[in-house]
Amino acid sequence: AKEKGKGRCMVYSARDKGAPAHDISLEAAMFSAVREGEFLLYYQPIVSARSRKIEGFETLMRWCHPTLGMVPPARFIPIAESNGLINLLGAWALKAACMQVRQFELAARRELYISVNISPRQFRSDQFLDVLDEALSMSGVPANRLVLEITEGTLMVDPAHAEGLLLRMAERSARIAIDDFGTGYSSLAYLKRFPISVLKVDRTFIKDLPDSRKDAAICSAVLDLARHLDLSVVAEGVETEAQLARLAQSGCHYVQGYLTGRPMPAHVALAALNDDLYE
Ligand code: C2E
Ligand code: CA
Ligand code: CA
Ligand code: CA
Repeated sequence: AKEKGKGRCMVYSARDKGAPAHDISLEAAMFSAVREGEFLLYYQPIVSARSRKIEGFETLMRWCHPTLGMVPPARFIPIAESNGLINLLGAWALKAACMQVRQFELAARRELYISVNISPRQFRSDQFLDVLDEALSMSGVPANRLVLEITEGTLMVDPAHAEGLLLRMAERSARIAIDDFGTGYSSLAYLKRFPISVLKVDRTFIKDLPDSRKDAAICSAVLDLARHLDLSVVAEGVETEAQLARLAQSGCHYVQGYLTGRPMPAHVALAALNDDLYE
Protein backbone atom coordinates (compact mmCIF):
# COMPACT_ATOMS: atom_id res chain seq x y z
CA ALA A 1 0.00 0.00 0.00
CA LYS A 2 1.04 3.54 -0.61
CA GLU A 3 0.65 6.30 1.91
CA LYS A 4 1.19 9.96 1.27
CA GLY A 5 1.85 12.96 3.41
CA LYS A 6 4.44 14.16 5.85
CA GLY A 7 5.70 11.70 8.42
CA ARG A 8 3.79 8.87 6.77
CA CYS A 9 6.61 7.16 5.08
CA MET A 10 6.75 3.43 5.29
CA VAL A 11 9.95 1.60 5.87
CA TYR A 12 11.63 0.44 2.74
CA SER A 13 12.75 -3.13 2.58
CA ALA A 14 14.76 -4.74 -0.17
CA ARG A 15 12.18 -7.50 -0.29
CA ASP A 16 9.27 -5.17 -1.01
CA LYS A 17 7.37 -6.16 -4.12
CA GLY A 18 7.74 -2.68 -5.56
CA ALA A 19 11.48 -2.53 -4.95
CA PRO A 20 13.57 -2.12 -8.06
CA ALA A 21 15.67 -5.07 -9.12
CA HIS A 22 18.64 -2.89 -9.95
CA ASP A 23 20.05 0.26 -8.51
CA ILE A 24 19.71 1.73 -11.98
CA SER A 25 16.04 2.35 -11.38
CA LEU A 26 16.83 3.65 -7.92
CA GLU A 27 19.30 5.99 -9.55
CA ALA A 28 16.73 7.23 -12.05
CA ALA A 29 14.26 7.77 -9.22
CA MET A 30 16.80 9.89 -7.34
CA PHE A 31 16.84 12.60 -9.96
CA SER A 32 13.09 13.04 -9.81
CA ALA A 33 13.27 12.75 -6.01
CA VAL A 34 15.43 15.87 -5.91
CA ARG A 35 12.86 17.75 -8.00
CA GLU A 36 9.96 16.41 -5.94
CA GLY A 37 11.59 17.25 -2.62
CA GLU A 38 11.57 13.67 -1.35
CA PHE A 39 14.86 14.06 0.52
CA LEU A 40 14.68 15.27 4.07
CA LEU A 41 16.89 15.61 7.09
CA TYR A 42 16.60 13.81 10.39
CA TYR A 43 18.41 14.96 13.48
CA GLN A 44 19.93 12.67 16.10
CA PRO A 45 20.76 14.17 19.51
CA ILE A 46 24.35 14.20 20.67
CA VAL A 47 24.12 14.40 24.43
CA SER A 48 26.33 14.98 27.43
CA ALA A 49 27.22 11.55 28.83
CA ARG A 50 26.76 12.75 32.41
CA SER A 51 23.66 14.92 32.22
CA ARG A 52 22.08 13.57 29.02
CA LYS A 53 21.41 17.15 28.06
CA ILE A 54 21.32 17.72 24.29
CA GLU A 55 24.48 19.47 23.15
CA GLY A 56 23.92 19.21 19.43
CA PHE A 57 22.57 17.10 16.60
CA GLU A 58 23.94 15.01 13.78
CA THR A 59 22.13 15.56 10.50
CA LEU A 60 21.16 12.31 8.77
CA MET A 61 19.63 12.30 5.33
CA ARG A 62 16.45 10.43 4.54
CA TRP A 63 14.75 9.64 1.27
CA CYS A 64 11.03 9.28 1.61
CA HIS A 65 9.97 7.67 -1.67
CA PRO A 66 6.22 7.77 -2.42
CA THR A 67 5.97 4.02 -3.04
CA LEU A 68 9.22 2.50 -1.76
CA GLY A 69 8.96 4.27 1.59
CA MET A 70 12.09 5.19 3.50
CA VAL A 71 15.13 4.31 1.45
CA PRO A 72 18.09 4.05 3.84
CA PRO A 73 21.16 6.23 3.19
CA ALA A 74 23.29 3.09 2.95
CA ARG A 75 21.39 2.43 -0.31
CA PHE A 76 21.28 5.86 -1.89
CA ILE A 77 24.41 7.69 -0.66
CA PRO A 78 26.78 5.35 -2.54
CA ILE A 79 24.77 5.89 -5.74
CA ALA A 80 24.79 9.66 -5.22
CA GLU A 81 28.50 9.46 -4.55
CA SER A 82 29.16 7.65 -7.80
CA ASN A 83 26.96 9.78 -10.07
CA GLY A 84 27.86 13.09 -8.45
CA LEU A 85 24.39 13.90 -7.16
CA ILE A 86 25.95 13.95 -3.69
CA ASN A 87 27.32 17.41 -4.41
CA LEU A 88 23.83 18.76 -4.90
CA LEU A 89 22.32 16.79 -2.00
CA GLY A 90 25.23 17.56 0.29
CA ALA A 91 25.09 21.28 -0.44
CA TRP A 92 21.38 21.29 0.28
CA ALA A 93 21.90 19.33 3.53
CA LEU A 94 24.62 21.67 4.74
CA LYS A 95 22.52 24.77 4.14
CA ALA A 96 19.33 23.26 5.55
CA ALA A 97 21.14 22.00 8.66
CA CYS A 98 22.62 25.43 9.35
CA MET A 99 19.22 27.07 8.97
CA GLN A 100 17.68 24.45 11.26
CA VAL A 101 20.16 24.83 14.09
CA ARG A 102 19.10 28.47 14.52
CA GLN A 103 15.56 27.30 15.17
CA PHE A 104 16.83 24.69 17.62
CA GLU A 105 18.82 27.34 19.46
CA LEU A 106 15.81 29.60 19.77
CA ALA A 107 13.78 26.75 21.23
CA ALA A 108 16.52 25.68 23.62
CA ARG A 109 17.58 29.26 24.45
CA ARG A 110 21.21 28.23 24.36
CA GLU A 111 23.96 27.39 21.95
CA LEU A 112 23.86 24.05 20.18
CA TYR A 113 26.01 22.60 17.49
CA ILE A 114 25.16 20.86 14.29
CA SER A 115 27.16 18.05 12.78
CA VAL A 116 26.93 17.36 9.05
CA ASN A 117 28.32 14.38 7.10
CA ILE A 118 30.56 15.30 4.20
CA SER A 119 31.16 12.59 1.63
CA PRO A 120 34.56 12.04 -0.02
CA ARG A 121 33.41 13.42 -3.35
CA GLN A 122 31.89 16.51 -1.75
CA PHE A 123 35.13 17.08 0.13
CA ARG A 124 37.10 16.91 -3.11
CA SER A 125 34.72 19.21 -4.97
CA ASP A 126 36.01 22.64 -6.01
CA GLN A 127 32.74 24.16 -4.88
CA PHE A 128 32.91 22.86 -1.35
CA LEU A 129 34.31 25.97 0.35
CA ASP A 130 31.85 28.20 -1.48
CA VAL A 131 28.98 26.02 -0.32
CA LEU A 132 30.31 26.13 3.22
CA ASP A 133 30.59 29.92 3.17
CA GLU A 134 27.13 30.26 1.71
CA ALA A 135 25.63 27.97 4.35
CA LEU A 136 27.27 30.00 7.10
CA SER A 137 26.36 33.40 5.71
CA MET A 138 22.77 32.62 4.76
CA SER A 139 22.03 31.04 8.14
CA GLY A 140 24.08 33.36 10.31
CA VAL A 141 25.36 30.35 12.25
CA PRO A 142 28.77 31.04 13.80
CA ALA A 143 31.20 28.62 12.19
CA ASN A 144 32.37 27.25 15.52
CA ARG A 145 28.97 25.64 16.00
CA LEU A 146 29.25 23.69 12.78
CA VAL A 147 31.00 20.32 12.82
CA LEU A 148 31.88 18.65 9.54
CA GLU A 149 32.10 14.87 9.77
CA ILE A 150 34.57 13.19 7.47
CA THR A 151 36.02 9.71 7.53
CA GLU A 152 39.64 8.66 7.69
CA GLY A 153 39.26 7.44 4.11
CA THR A 154 38.27 10.92 2.95
CA LEU A 155 41.46 12.34 4.43
CA MET A 156 43.69 9.67 3.00
CA VAL A 157 42.61 9.87 -0.66
CA ASP A 158 44.68 12.99 -1.11
CA PRO A 159 46.30 14.10 2.15
CA ALA A 160 47.88 17.21 0.65
CA HIS A 161 44.56 18.45 -0.66
CA ALA A 162 42.90 17.52 2.62
CA GLU A 163 45.45 19.48 4.59
CA GLY A 164 44.86 22.62 2.56
CA LEU A 165 41.12 22.34 2.79
CA LEU A 166 41.08 21.60 6.51
CA LEU A 167 43.24 24.62 7.14
CA ARG A 168 40.80 26.80 5.22
CA MET A 169 37.98 25.36 7.29
CA ALA A 170 39.90 25.95 10.50
CA GLU A 171 40.44 29.58 9.43
CA ARG A 172 36.68 29.89 9.42
CA SER A 173 36.66 28.07 12.80
CA ALA A 174 34.40 25.31 11.54
CA ARG A 175 35.27 22.11 13.40
CA ILE A 176 36.26 18.79 11.92
CA ALA A 177 35.17 15.43 13.29
CA ILE A 178 36.64 12.08 12.28
CA ASP A 179 33.62 9.84 11.71
CA ASP A 180 33.75 6.09 12.37
CA PHE A 181 37.08 6.66 14.12
CA GLY A 182 39.24 3.58 14.27
CA THR A 183 37.71 1.72 11.34
CA GLY A 184 39.47 3.33 8.37
CA TYR A 185 42.77 2.75 6.71
CA SER A 186 44.98 5.39 8.15
CA SER A 187 47.68 6.12 10.65
CA LEU A 188 47.46 8.22 13.77
CA ALA A 189 49.88 10.61 12.10
CA TYR A 190 46.98 12.52 10.62
CA LEU A 191 45.91 13.57 14.13
CA LYS A 192 49.18 15.44 14.29
CA ARG A 193 49.07 16.81 10.78
CA PHE A 194 45.48 17.97 10.48
CA PRO A 195 43.44 20.42 12.57
CA ILE A 196 40.91 17.97 13.99
CA SER A 197 38.58 18.72 16.89
CA VAL A 198 36.33 15.71 17.41
CA LEU A 199 36.69 11.93 17.28
CA LYS A 200 33.53 9.92 16.76
CA VAL A 201 34.25 6.44 18.06
CA ASP A 202 32.60 3.90 15.85
CA ARG A 203 29.81 1.71 17.16
CA THR A 204 31.87 -1.44 16.61
CA PHE A 205 33.96 -0.42 19.67
CA ILE A 206 30.89 0.46 21.74
CA LYS A 207 28.46 -2.35 21.11
CA ASP A 208 30.15 -4.99 23.30
CA LEU A 209 30.75 -2.64 26.22
CA PRO A 210 30.99 -3.07 29.13
CA ASP A 211 31.76 -6.80 28.89
CA SER A 212 34.42 -6.79 26.20
CA ARG A 213 37.82 -6.10 27.74
CA LYS A 214 39.27 -5.32 24.33
CA ASP A 215 36.65 -2.72 23.51
CA ALA A 216 36.96 -1.21 26.98
CA ALA A 217 40.72 -0.95 26.46
CA ILE A 218 40.32 0.63 23.03
CA CYS A 219 37.79 3.16 24.31
CA SER A 220 39.99 4.09 27.26
CA ALA A 221 42.99 4.50 25.00
CA VAL A 222 41.07 6.73 22.59
CA LEU A 223 39.75 8.84 25.47
CA ASP A 224 43.27 9.18 26.84
CA LEU A 225 44.68 10.15 23.49
CA ALA A 226 41.89 12.65 22.96
CA ARG A 227 42.46 14.24 26.36
CA HIS A 228 46.13 14.80 25.60
CA LEU A 229 45.44 16.14 22.13
CA ASP A 230 42.57 18.36 23.30
CA LEU A 231 39.97 16.59 21.20
CA SER A 232 36.34 15.91 22.07
CA VAL A 233 35.05 12.38 21.82
CA VAL A 234 31.58 11.28 20.79
CA ALA A 235 30.73 7.61 21.36
CA GLU A 236 28.45 6.43 18.56
CA GLY A 237 25.70 3.85 18.66
CA VAL A 238 25.11 3.82 22.42
CA GLU A 239 22.10 1.61 23.00
CA THR A 240 22.20 0.52 26.64
CA GLU A 241 22.41 2.08 30.09
CA ALA A 242 25.41 -0.13 30.85
CA GLN A 243 27.30 1.24 27.84
CA LEU A 244 26.46 4.81 28.79
CA ALA A 245 27.50 4.27 32.42
CA ARG A 246 30.78 2.75 31.36
CA LEU A 247 31.53 5.57 28.93
CA ALA A 248 30.64 8.32 31.41
CA GLN A 249 32.82 6.63 34.01
CA SER A 250 35.74 6.51 31.56
CA GLY A 251 35.44 10.25 30.99
CA CYS A 252 33.68 10.26 27.63
CA HIS A 253 31.91 13.59 27.29
CA TYR A 254 29.42 12.99 24.51
CA VAL A 255 27.32 10.08 23.40
CA GLN A 256 24.95 9.47 20.54
CA GLY A 257 22.69 6.49 20.05
CA TYR A 258 19.26 4.97 20.26
CA LEU A 259 19.39 5.07 24.07
CA THR A 260 19.45 8.86 24.22
CA GLY A 261 17.59 9.61 21.00
CA ARG A 262 16.98 8.14 17.58
CA PRO A 263 17.32 10.21 14.43
CA MET A 264 14.10 12.24 14.29
CA PRO A 265 12.39 14.88 12.17
CA ALA A 266 13.07 18.50 13.10
CA HIS A 267 9.72 19.06 14.82
CA VAL A 268 10.31 16.07 17.11
CA ALA A 269 13.82 17.33 17.86
CA LEU A 270 12.29 20.69 18.82
CA ALA A 271 9.97 18.92 21.25
CA ALA A 272 12.94 17.04 22.75
CA LEU A 273 14.72 20.36 23.29
CA ASN A 274 11.66 21.72 25.05
CA ASP A 275 11.62 18.70 27.36
CA ASP A 276 15.26 19.43 28.20
CA LEU A 277 14.28 23.00 29.06
CA TYR A 278 11.74 22.05 31.70
CA GLU A 279 13.61 19.21 33.35
P1 C2E B 1 27.09 7.60 10.13
O1 C2E B 1 27.50 8.98 9.75
O2 C2E B 1 28.09 6.78 10.87
O3 C2E B 1 25.76 7.78 10.96
C1 C2E B 1 25.41 7.00 12.06
C2 C2E B 1 24.43 5.92 11.69
O4 C2E B 1 24.17 5.10 12.82
C3 C2E B 1 23.06 6.46 11.26
O5 C2E B 1 22.55 5.57 10.29
C4 C2E B 1 22.26 6.35 12.55
O6 C2E B 1 20.86 6.28 12.33
C5 C2E B 1 22.80 5.06 13.10
N1 C2E B 1 22.64 4.97 14.55
C6 C2E B 1 22.57 5.96 15.45
N2 C2E B 1 22.46 5.50 16.69
C7 C2E B 1 22.47 4.16 16.60
C8 C2E B 1 22.39 3.09 17.57
O7 C2E B 1 22.29 3.30 18.78
N3 C2E B 1 22.44 1.82 17.07
C9 C2E B 1 22.55 1.55 15.74
N4 C2E B 1 22.57 0.29 15.36
N5 C2E B 1 22.65 2.54 14.82
C10 C2E B 1 22.61 3.82 15.24
P2 C2E B 1 21.84 6.11 8.97
O8 C2E B 1 21.02 7.33 9.30
O9 C2E B 1 21.17 4.95 8.34
O10 C2E B 1 23.05 6.59 8.08
C11 C2E B 1 23.98 5.67 7.60
C12 C2E B 1 25.16 6.36 6.99
O11 C2E B 1 24.76 7.07 5.80
C13 C2E B 1 25.81 7.40 7.88
O12 C2E B 1 26.63 6.77 8.82
C14 C2E B 1 26.55 8.21 6.84
O13 C2E B 1 27.75 7.58 6.47
C15 C2E B 1 25.60 8.18 5.66
N6 C2E B 1 24.82 9.42 5.66
C16 C2E B 1 23.64 9.71 6.28
N7 C2E B 1 23.26 10.97 6.02
C17 C2E B 1 24.21 11.52 5.23
C18 C2E B 1 24.39 12.81 4.62
O14 C2E B 1 23.61 13.76 4.78
N8 C2E B 1 25.52 12.96 3.84
C19 C2E B 1 26.42 11.96 3.66
N9 C2E B 1 27.51 12.19 2.89
N10 C2E B 1 26.29 10.75 4.24
C20 C2E B 1 25.19 10.53 5.00
CA1 CA C 1 28.40 10.62 10.78
CA1 CA D 1 29.70 7.21 12.30
CA1 CA E 1 25.46 7.29 15.57
